[in-house]
Amino acid sequence: MAIQAPEGTKDLLPDEALFWTHFKAVAARVFGAYGYVPIETPVIEQTELFVRGIGEATDVVSKEMFTSLSGENLKKLLSGGTVKSKSRLSMRPEGTAGVVRAVVQHDLVPQGAAPAKLMYAGQMFRAERPQKGRQRQFNQVGVECLGAEEPTVDAEAIIMLMRFYREIGIPASDTRLLLNSMGCDACRPAYREQVRAYMAEHADELCETCMTRAELNPLRAFDCKNPGCAAVMEGAPKITGHLCDDCREHYETVKALLDGAGVAYAEDAKLVRGLDYYTRTVFEVQVDNGMGSQNAIGGGGRYDKLAEEVGGRPTPGLGFALGYERCVLALQAAGVEFPRAQRCDLFVACVDASVRTAAFSLVQRCRDAGMAADMDHQKRSLKSQFKLADKLGAAHVAVLGPDELAAGQVKLRDMGTHEERLVALEDAVPALLAQG
Ligand code: AMP
Repeated sequence: MAIQAPEGTKDLLPDEALFWTHFKAVAARVFGAYGYVPIETPVIEQTELFVRGIGEATDVVSKEMFTSLSGENLKKLLSGGTVKSKSRLSMRPEGTAGVVRAVVQHDLVPQGAAPAKLMYAGQMFRAERPQKGRQRQFNQVGVECLGAEEPTVDAEAIIMLMRFYREIGIPASDTRLLLNSMGCDACRPAYREQVRAYMAEHADELCETCMTRAELNPLRAFDCKNPGCAAVMEGAPKITGHLCDDCREHYETVKALLDGAGVAYAEDAKLVRGLDYYTRTVFEVQVDNGMGSQNAIGGGGRYDKLAEEVGGRPTPGLGFALGYERCVLALQAAGVEFPRAQRCDLFVACVDASVRTAAFSLVQRCRDAGMAADMDHQKRSLKSQFKLADKLGAAHVAVLGPDELAAGQVKLRDMGTHEERLVALEDAVPALLAQG
């Protein structure tokens, strides 16, 4: 059997690859208006970055990373040797840790400087069980703002995310914005202990994974899909009742700014998100139409401790990532038409082989004038050339035969109206340009 793409990966064939390019361009335009500029970081990073940044106990790091070694280091390991931790590399499972590492490494936010507003787009890798909306290699667009702790940054990022969905074509009525605060180092530890104690009281009703979570990071139990656990966690203490004054004020200001901007949200005290680095604001956008159980099309939050975790000076941060493939599912469900990749303004059809050189030169002249033009390269019959022109969606076909060529003319056929007219060969390009 012919070799297939690896499980959980997907080729973006030309129409979709074109839409991905459009998707990134819309993101660059929308986010650019808020001061975000692009950054590109490597697809591989030291494994240590994700272990320290995202957290060893998270599913992403403990189960889902694709980790690799060079051939030489693999040999060393297999023969009983050891490999330095900086030689252990992982494919990035998300974009934030790499961007924060780059900000720290290149000192992009020197003390007293304006915040760095950065955006990225690219592939992420997670060894999850593939299902609808969940791949092992997928595309994300994300932003990170480092160096500002004011709640205005949180609010403008959320407003900007919702604006992006609108501009790309996901109806606002299909989206649901969930909002929560996860507190900070001052208030979360005491809250975490309360959740742990509550879970201990309900140990016999919780799954084994949740009981392991109770030890490492009890808040993750809020994410458990098991209906029994979900029912128990429904009654668990909620963070919103345990925020310190600073976190409460921050959260109230974010909500007031969103209210002022007319952005609707639902508070969800159970929204904890899967990564350890979040502090204060967290948010997620969900869509029901066209999605399976994976209905989050984007999410993010504040991570004021992450820069320190990766060895930098204290630098507050906030970011989000949105999933391209799930946005496509949401757009398909909303009936949005995707533009076709191929554009063809003119197809030059040859009546016989004697006119091919003249046809070739006409095609070149069209391209020089900025048109998308093509001709047959397989010695097709005239009928089959017309079929090809149709398939390419050609707006016009120029028919060139020995008689036309002898008279210095070409027949132009408008494929929309089926009208035909003879024009002088040297006037064909301006005539086509005039038609737009
Ligand atoms: P996360 O980093 O988990 O918050 O993911 C941000 C967004 O990326 C999600 O809301 C999804 O839209 C998308 N996403 C995350 N994991 C996957 C995956 N395995 N396959 C496809 N999209 C994903």
